[in-house]
Amino acid sequence: SMTSNTLRDADLSYVLHPYTNLVAHETKGPLIAVRGEGVRVFDETGRDYIEGMAGLWCASLGFNEPRLVEAATRQMKELPFFHMFSHKSHAPGIELSQALIERAPVPMARVFFANSGSEANDTALKMIWYYNNAVGRPEKKKVIARQRAYHGVTVASASLTCLPANHRDFDLPIARILHTGSPQYYREGLPGESEDEFARRRARELEELILAEGPETVAAFFAEPVMGAGGVILPPGRYFEYIQEVLRKYDILFVADEVICGFGRTGQYWGSQTYDLKPDILTCAKALSSAYLPISAVLVNEKVYQALRTNSGKIGTFGHGYTYSAHPVSAAVALETLRLYDERDILSNVARSGARLQARLRALADHPLVGDARGIGLIGALEMVKDKASHASFEPTLAVGPRIVERAQEHGVILRAMAADAIAFSPPLIISEAEVDDMMDRFERALNDVAADILK
Ligand code: PMP
Repeated sequence: SMTSNTLRDADLSYVLHPYTNLVAHETKGPLIAVRGEGVRVFDETGRDYIEGMAGLWCASLGFNEPRLVEAATRQMKELPFFHMFSHKSHAPGIELSQALIERAPVPMARVFFANSGSEANDTALKMIWYYNNAVGRPEKKKVIARQRAYHGVTVASASLTCLPANHRDFDLPIARILHTGSPQYYREGLPGESEDEFARRRARELEELILAEGPETVAAFFAEPVMGAGGVILPPGRYFEYIQEVLRKYDILFVADEVICGFGRTGQYWGSQTYDLKPDILTCAKALSSAYLPISAVLVNEKVYQALRTNSGKIGTFGHGYTYSAHPVSAAVALETLRLYDERDILSNVARSGARLQARLRALADHPLVGDARGIGLIGALEMVKDKASHASFEPTLAVGPRIVERAQEHGVILRAMAADAIAFSPPLIISEAEVDDMMDRFERALNDVAADILK
């Protein structure tokens, strides 16, 4: 096997890293993880890191859950591959679809499987277009997402996403995809405007956009219950109540992107339950399989399903599906994941450890670098500012969030720097209160190191 130096050299020679500054990588080099245990991963030298992001908001059951390994092994031995194209099916896919329908936050009729959050959102978009063809209004095809949203990186889902790096240089978004204002009160609330007034304004702006485009041309609205990659942005006031009122008024479908929030992250099983969303379509991925194998799902309600069904009955095949839609091994692992969430009462752990995380984050609100400390359940963020009163950010070149994150890694905790200089926290859902404290202690050492540097 490769020595650690050979591994490092090979990484630098051959790997084209996703979401990485490729030039900076040549000097920084990789953190090479070789082993996992609970909420920790170990590098090739044996150093441990608390994974404060559960990988990429996904490894909910931690990094060495034997029940998931056994579920995968069993299915691998029995039937490593089959599919669901043209009237084929298999047990793990059937059982997983049933488990998802049983757990859905609102009544749902059918489940479509894909392999990633991006593919799930792409699928939802195509279903919306197909749906509007089916119900005889082909002009109703525009889709509205929000600034700072993250819905994926395929050409269509990157178009729904609205962060600079995902549009700049790719000539996106594609036609018919629009964006309305983000729900971030902390940066975008007006002086003297309450959270709830801000929420009402955002709903009014959405209505104005719909009216300007023509309601007969607007098909759907996409939203994450809590925005993740945009900087962990919680909906202000009664935001979703006002937004959903507008959507109902103009017969616009609502897609809840539960890729991060789904399966307990916000303290309830779904973000849709935390914020009382009534989606027509729900997408989920990541924690669906605790990230052990790639799988995502699109849940559609009866109204959407009936249109898809009737149309395909008339015109033939519903022409969409991936080779690995409902991959049986991924499906078996996802099914076991859902069973483990129930068996271990994961929501109770999120209640306990989430309260601990939120208390530790809020305790940092007075720190000179921290403008805003926010979160819910086991998702949170600290937003770095130069000026606490005006919320002014540091010069981008200072890159305070990324510097703290880099320093935190040296102190043994993996976190991620997000848009607007926010540092995100999203540990595995199995994290204990003591481990939350350990994680935050390690983080605070890094925060204070960088503060001492900047504020000296
Ligand atoms: N939606 C949300 C809310 C996400 O956070 C992500 C990934 N971070 C995606 C969609 C895309 O998922 P994937 O990376 O699996 O394509």
